[in-house]
Amino acid sequence: MESKYWNPRTETMPRQELEKLQLAKLQRLVNMAYRNSQFWKKKLDESGVAPDSIKNLEDIKRIPYLTRDELNQSQLSRPLFGDIMSINTSDAVRYHQTSGSSGKVPLRILDTWRDWEWVSEAWCYGMYGFGVRETDVVYLAYGYGTFIGFWGAHYAAEKIGALTIPSGGLTSEERVQRIINLGVTVLVCTPTYAIRLAQVAAEMGIDLARESRVRLTIHAGEPGPSIPATKKMLETAWGAKAGDFPGMSETGGSTAYECSDQCGGLHIPEDHYIQEVIDPDTGEPLGYGQRGELVLTSLGRMALPLIRYRTGDLVERVESSFCSCGRTFDLYQGGILGRADDMKIVRGVNIFPSALENIIREFSEIEEFQIIIYKEKDIDQVMVKVEPKPDLDPNAYPGLKANLAEQLNRAHRLSFNVRIVDQGTLPRFELKARRLKDLRDQPNATLD
Ligand SMILES: [Zn+2]
Repeated sequence: MESKYWNPRTETMPRQELEKLQLAKLQRLVNMAYRNSQFWKKKLDESGVAPDSIKNLEDIKRIPYLTRDELNQSQLSRPLFGDIMSINTSDAVRYHQTSGSSGKVPLRILDTWRDWEWVSEAWCYGMYGFGVRETDVVYLAYGYGTFIGFWGAHYAAEKIGALTIPSGGLTSEERVQRIINLGVTVLVCTPTYAIRLAQVAAEMGIDLARESRVRLTIHAGEPGPSIPATKKMLETAWGAKAGDFPGMSETGGSTAYECSDQCGGLHIPEDHYIQEVIDPDTGEPLGYGQRGELVLTSLGRMALPLIRYRTGDLVERVESSFCSCGRTFDLYQGGILGRADDMKIVRGVNIFPSALENIIREFSEIEEFQIIIYKEKDIDQVMVKVEPKPDLDPNAYPGLKANLAEQLNRAHRLSFNVRIVDQGTLPRFELKARRLKDLRDQPNATLD
């Protein structure tokens, strides 16, 4: 019988054996980083951690956390790639850089051939585990730029043996057409863009759930498929199962994955990463079921040694028994729950964009939305702009507005202003959506 695991040996490895494997890989990584990266030699020397003093997994806690700011500083002080890199440029085969969203300085990243092999391997765990097979036709709907995006998924699809189709600079209409004409069975893109493609298809008179052969949609970049209402929306629009495979440029790709059991959690490929959860304020380690910041160590990416990297993502780790698939890897219940810096405080109430999204996506008559936080007479206000689907009768607008406001108000004990806006006025996104605007430090900004 065909295995449901990409790597049956590691994915079902007993905990004790798994930890032994992690330790051996951690020792290799720390030694290599100390020898080849000036940044790491200095950092480890300064914290008094001799590479050969890592004797058990607990010893990782002696290594100080690594921050995005340190990565940026390393590259600013030693352009282009910084003193953190462990290789010469001539040893690299790939170049990627972060998207520069949220105003951060872009990070430039090199990979060796081996690193890239590891990146695609980690993606294979997820894609194969979700059900992608060699008989599939995989379509990657994104721009193929230097943003790492779905490059890892592309190589994983080939490695699994599926027919792999890039889509580069095509328009959304052309992509819909190819998905139908080429008999695509697996779609890979951001959740936002999958919803957009379904809207474009509807405008073309095409019902993708009925007229396409897509049976799986694979997502990264945003937490959408782990937000219940958004998952339902994706699965209904495409008539397919929607899976969540979060990752980031710094870590090299997929850092957790949804298996075909869809238990509501994401497995951690623990033989490829050591993942810790900490209190974002104190840095203290947290246990199972406690919400905290994800800290990552990439065990297979050597050009950019990433040890105890503070991701800013919030997660709640649970034991492997949370899922019934037989994997011994722990999971994150509910996926990536948001980012520590995503949370907004409005009149003393904590607001997470993903929680708002979960409420708004329950309304299938809403096509697009935007959240604006602003000040009015020195008091914080939240406005939710919604764009209804084109076929919604305008007579239904007042009811939609009142219902949505009531749901939002009830969940947050805060009063939200809901405004219905015209078709096509809100921005559409192909990669990561930016649907929240905080204008509180811009008193002269208009709300239109
Ligand atoms: Zn599972």
